[in-house]
Amino acid sequence: MATDLAKFAADNGVKYFMISYTDLFGGQRAKLVPARAIAGMQEDGAGFAGFATWLDLTPAHPDMLAVPDPEAAIILPWDKTVAWVPSNCVMDGKDLAQAPRNVLRKLIAEAASEGMHVKTGIEAEFFLLTPAGDQISDEYDTAGKPCYDQQAFMRRIDVIREISDYMLELGWNPYQNDHEDANGQWEMNWDFDDALKTADKHSFFKFMARSVAEKHGYRVTFMPKPIEGLTGNGCHAHVSVWDAAGADAKVNVFAGKGEGQTGEVGLSERGKHFLGGIMKHASALAAITNPTVNSYKRINAPRTISGATWAPNTVTWTGNNRTHMVRVPGPGRFELRLPDGAVNPYLLQAIIIAAGLSGIRSKADPGKRHDIDMYAEGHTVSGAPLLPLNMLDALRAYDADTELKASMGEEFSAAFLKLKMQEWNSYCSHFSDWEKANTLDI
Ligand SMILES: [Mg+2]
Repeated sequence: MATDLAKFAADNGVKYFMISYTDLFGGQRAKLVPARAIAGMQEDGAGFAGFATWLDLTPAHPDMLAVPDPEAAIILPWDKTVAWVPSNCVMDGKDLAQAPRNVLRKLIAEAASEGMHVKTGIEAEFFLLTPAGDQISDEYDTAGKPCYDQQAFMRRIDVIREISDYMLELGWNPYQNDHEDANGQWEMNWDFDDALKTADKHSFFKFMARSVAEKHGYRVTFMPKPIEGLTGNGCHAHVSVWDAAGADAKVNVFAGKGEGQTGEVGLSERGKHFLGGIMKHASALAAITNPTVNSYKRINAPRTISGATWAPNTVTWTGNNRTHMVRVPGPGRFELRLPDGAVNPYLLQAIIIAAGLSGIRSKADPGKRHDIDMYAEGHTVSGAPLLPLNMLDALRAYDADTELKASMGEEFSAAFLKLKMQEWNSYCSHFSDWEKANTLDI
């Protein structure tokens, strides 16, 4: 962990810093700064024209300064002369309210002031494609049920192993890698951590997976549903809340035996209310966890070739059963299965904390636990809301949820809704082959 980046460079042979920030659409933006200039940049930040990225700024705004967080610096395992440093966006001497890392930092501080420290693990599924991105990279990966396919794994072990080696080197404690449920799809898991650390690692993982795959002549995509008929890319989040941050965490305040059905699966009263907040705000938070037009082709999807989408379509929760939006696989944590690969790493953590805090403050009840196979028997559930059917429904649900909007920050919510509505309108004005095929002869 560095506190003085110039010293960090001298001690570690780092020649360049990649000063990086994440915009509202999840894009990572960076400037490459020689080590000789890092002392000044650490103090003042690197200047960016905010309008040139998705931050809802105008060309007339002053410089947006990306101030590197030295504690979060990571030396690129594949080029040890360069260090990546996530940054906090500052303008006119203040944190830029709509910048995703700032939104998350604010919510982490709020939760901490109420004695809660969220720790999260995420499962960032991805596909390995050909460089053009139009097909999977392995033409022999064609099995009807390709999950855990050992032979297909061997054909891509060079890529997966290299990424896993790097995570070992970085001390992330990776513990398993597998060929996922779609042809060409992979999942790599590492230990859960404090929400901000997980968000930084999630961002770096996407950068690393893409960089390593490109070196091997492939392309990585985290797109929610890149191939019609195949299982999509989820980004499941495993959430628990502790009494302290980092290594000081001793007590999982989610673990215990609360009242009602949550107690039976090992969630304390606070865990129950936090989950209640997730359930209460599910339709609105989908705007963040499922942020693209394509996201809605993963949830609400028809059965895939492998037999299951592994994605939810209804706002329900359960015990250890993967067909629901929320699974409580064991005492003291729950898995939110709604988010997809397009989710912004910082906003994912932020929206979980915002919805959870709302649930705790209002003592929200998550409702009835459903112990059924939702894919086969979902139609028998009455009263559970359906998830939004498309991005517009989700944006409208978010806009209508004044409590969640305020918790994420009014500036952020206004900027996010404005840019996402522009994106939706752009999509709607696009002419597709489907329209021609279904309308030409009418
Ligand atoms: Mg998975």
